[in-house]
Amino acid sequence: MVDRAAELLRGASTAVALTGAGVSAESGIPTFRGEGGLWTKYDPVKVSSIDSFLADPASYWQVSKERGNIALAARPNPGHEALAAMETAGRLVAVITQNTDGLHQAAKSRRVIELHGSGRTVECLECGARESRADVQARLDLEMPPRCKSCGGGVLKPTVVLFGEPMPVDAVNEALELARVADVILVVGSSLVVYPAAEIPLIAVRSGARMIVVNAEPTPFDGLAEIVIHGRSGEVLPEIAQLIGA
Ligand code: NAD
Repeated sequence: MVDRAAELLRGASTAVALTGAGVSAESGIPTFRGEGGLWTKYDPVKVSSIDSFLADPASYWQVSKERGNIALAARPNPGHEALAAMETAGRLVAVITQNTDGLHQAAKSRRVIELHGSGRTVECLECGARESRADVQARLDLEMPPRCKSCGGGVLKPTVVLFGEPMPVDAVNEALELARVADVILVVGSSLVVYPAAEIPLIAVRSGARMIVVNAEPTPFDGLAEIVIHGRSGEVLPEIAQLIGA
């Protein structure tokens, strides 16, 4: 299967990757779904919706504080590095990601489209000023919820897309355009149940792309894929990268 995936990528002219939380699992960041997923511990709508954030930002930040410590300390794993190497070698055009952890950029992927925003910055809900998440993380023990330094009062929110919020229009349009022109779509570490992100591989396949799925568990789209590899992305992707000379 790894050989066939490499062959498909070698023959592609516009290969695009779509990644989800699974690609960062081996960096120590828990996924939402799947074994050990966070949603076995929390109710997603309570924790990650804009309505619950606005009703009780301190509760959101309590959970986010724990996750932030993990995400800020995380480093790219061999899966992120393999995707960056494929791009450098001219075998991959872009990475579209559902992740907010910034690890593709840390691994030196150049064209990264963040569908769900970035957890590396926060924004004031009053004046719109932005600060780095690392700076805010450092004062969470003193201030909960954290407040804006610029205007002195507004509540800060991570620049991630919460349930009930619109997705960033430019990122979505760029991802849709890539899905339409891709001849290979490589889906990695996504349960493919979060829409509209899960629409991307569907659009790609309907537009003629051949799909490769690399995921620890089966996904609802495995039947549409030409190649399905059930395994850990930190192991599978470096093998594929090596076979295509990346
Ligand atoms: P998900 O949590 O719904 O699913 C993750 C998938 O990855 C599962 O199917 C699981 O079987 C698989 N997986 C786990 N470990 C793996 C590994 N080592 N190699 C390959 N696959 C592995 O993730 P999702 O579909 O991306 O959707 C959840 C949403 O939550 C995302 O849209 C994202 O915004 C957010 N999220 C982001 C992060 C992050 O930034 N790292 C982490 C958790 C959730």
